[in-house]
Amino acid sequence: MSAPPAVVGMVRRLEDAGFETWVVGGCVRDVLAGRSAGDWDLTTRARPKDVRRLFRRTVPIGVEHGTVGVIGEDSVLYEVTTFRRDVATDGRHAVVAFADRIEDDLARRDFTINAIAWHPLRDELYDPYGGRADLEAGILRAVGAPSRRFAEDHLRVLRALRFAGLFDLRIEPATWTALKQAAPKLRTLSAERIREELLKVLGADPRPSSVLSAYRDAGALGVLYPELADVPEPGREWSGTLATVDRLPRGRPLQRLAALLRPLDPSGAAALLVRLRLSNAQTDETARRAAAPPLPPADASDADFRRWLSAVGVARLTAVARIELAEARAGKSGRDVGDLVDSWRRARRVRNARPPLEVADLALTGDDLIGLGLRPGPDFGRILASLLGWVLEDPNRNRRELLEARALELAVGEPPEGGAAEP
Ligand code: ATP
Ligand code: MG
Repeated sequence: MSAPPAVVGMVRRLEDAGFETWVVGGCVRDVLAGRSAGDWDLTTRARPKDVRRLFRRTVPIGVEHGTVGVIGEDSVLYEVTTFRRDVATDGRHAVVAFADRIEDDLARRDFTINAIAWHPLRDELYDPYGGRADLEAGILRAVGAPSRRFAEDHLRVLRALRFAGLFDLRIEPATWTALKQAAPKLRTLSAERIREELLKVLGADPRPSSVLSAYRDAGALGVLYPELADVPEPGREWSGTLATVDRLPRGRPLQRLAALLRPLDPSGAAALLVRLRLSNAQTDETARRAAAPPLPPADASDADFRRWLSAVGVARLTAVARIELAEARAGKSGRDVGDLVDSWRRARRVRNARPPLEVADLALTGDDLIGLGLRPGPDFGRILASLLGWVLEDPNRNRRELLEARALELAVGEPPEGGAAEP
C-alpha cells in the first residue's frame, strides 16, 4: 500500500509529537480490494485540540465527535479523528468517548473489511478481525456479534447491502440472519441517512441491481420503499427496471432514481420522493422524468413530437430519452433501439425549430382575452390550453388575429353560467 505524500507527512507530524496515528476505514479497504481509494482518513490518539495545534490549516468538521479537517500540503482536506469508543447507542445515534487505543477504535467499526488500519511509516497492517482475508474470500462479516452490531446502528443494514453489492461479497450467514431481523427497524432512521445510502448506491455502484435485489431479499425494500416492493417479480417489470438502472451511468443518481420509479403510478412515486426529503426542485424534476410518456415512434407526425415536448418539457428531452434508451436496451420497453434513436433525433429536430410549446409562447395573452370582452376566470385557463393545443397541431396558427378569432369561438361554445351539467 502507499498513501499520498501529504498523508504520510501528516502521520509523521502526529507521530513525532508522540501521538499514535493510523490510516483507516474505506481507503484501506478500497486499496486492498484493488481499487482507487476514496477519502484518506486518519485515526489518532491525539485529541482534537492537539490536532488543531499541530497543523496550520484546520477546519472544525465535528470536533465534538473527534473529527478535525486538516488541509494537507496538496491542498486536499483530510479527516483526522481521535480514537473513539461507543458509550451508548440506540440504533440511531451513538454517544462516543475518546479512547487511547486503536483496538477500541477498530472494535466500534461495522464490518471486518472496514476495520483494517494501516500504518504508512511502518507499512504495517493492523487487522484484528481478519478483514483482509474476508475481502479476499469475498465475505462481508460484522465485527463482533452481528445482532448487537445491527441493534447499535440500524443503518448498518443498508451499509452491509451496499458494500456487499459494490465489492461483490457474500454476506456471512450469521450476519445475514441478524441483518434480516434488523430490517424492520430501518423505519426508525432519519430520512437523510436513508436517502444518502440510496444515493450512494445509485451514484457509485456500476451495477446497482445487485444491491437493490438484496434490499428486496433482506426486506429493506418493503420497509423503506413499499411502492417498489409492490412492483411484480418475477416478471419483466422489476427485473427490467433494475436492468435499466444498471445501464444508466453512475454519477447521476437522480437520473437512475427516476428510472427506478418509472413503474410506479405518479402518486406512489411522489410519496416515495417526499419521504426521501430531496429538495423540492429535485423531487419535481425526478417525478416528471419518472412519469414522462414514451417518445412518439420515429414515423409519428411533427405535431405528435410537439405535443410530447410540450407535455414533458423541452429541457427534459435528453434526460428522458436516455432513460428510454436504457429501457429499450434492457429489453424492458420492448421498443426497437434503432427506432428510438431515430425518434430522439426527430424530437431534437422539431425542438430546434423552436415552435411554440407553452401557453407563455402563444401570440396572445390573458390581457388580449379581456380586450376581446371576455371575463377573466377559470375559463381563461381552459381557453388558453385549448389554443395551445390548436397551435401545437400547426405552429403557423400562432398569430394574434387567428388566436383571437379562435378564442371567441371557444368562448361562445361554452355553456351559459349555471347551465353546465356535470357529467
Ligand atoms: P464510503 O465512503 O464509500 O461510504 P466508507 O467505508 O469510507 O465507505 P464512511 O461512511 O466514509 O464509509 O465511514 C468511514 C469508516 O467509518 C468506515 O469504513 C467504517 O470503518 C466506519 N463507519 C462508518 N459508518 C459506520 C457505522 N454506521 N457503524 C460503524 N462503523 C462505521
Ligand atoms: Mg468514506
